[in-house]
Amino acid sequence: MNTTLQALPSAFPLINSILEMSKADSWVEAVKEWDLSDITVLKPGDEDAFCLCGHNIRELCHIENSGTGNQAIVGNCCIKKFLSSEVATSARRVNAIKKEIGKALDEGTIARALEAGWISDWEAAFYTSTQKKRKLSTKQFNIRTRINRAVLLHLCPSHQTK
Ligand SMILES: [Zn+2]
Repeated sequence: MNTTLQALPSAFPLINSILEMSKADSWVEAVKEWDLSDITVLKPGDEDAFCLCGHNIRELCHIENSGTGNQAIVGNCCIKKFLSSEVATSARRVNAIKKEIGKALDEGTIARALEAGWISDWEAAFYTSTQKKRKLSTKQFNIRTRINRAVLLHLCPSHQTK
């Protein structure tokens, strides 16, 4: 048994399921194979949903393994166990802009959005240069908001931005 597993005793069902669906046979390596593909929220009347850990969840983080193509759903609490990957950071940032569209996404999400062709080179460069700024001009704020909407549209198609 390695030290990571010992440090997370309550996460056994989750870790075992993730390892089964991954190429790597250690948790530290396995989490790196997983990307966030969507975040959805249950609506009233929807069937119950469960995290891999067994907990009943309302916010569903859909994750996908880039190597095996396996897909899984975890809750917004267990997504934090993917700390050594970018998944947790992305999930937190994506959640933040869902609540407040003017907030900044993380670099990993912007890099993936550029790679996927969701945003232009110029938009990615703009984002990087203004990412750390707390106060944006109205024009900069509008551009960031526009880029955030574009990324949300691809990452979370089920999410409607106002
Ligand atoms: Zn969980």
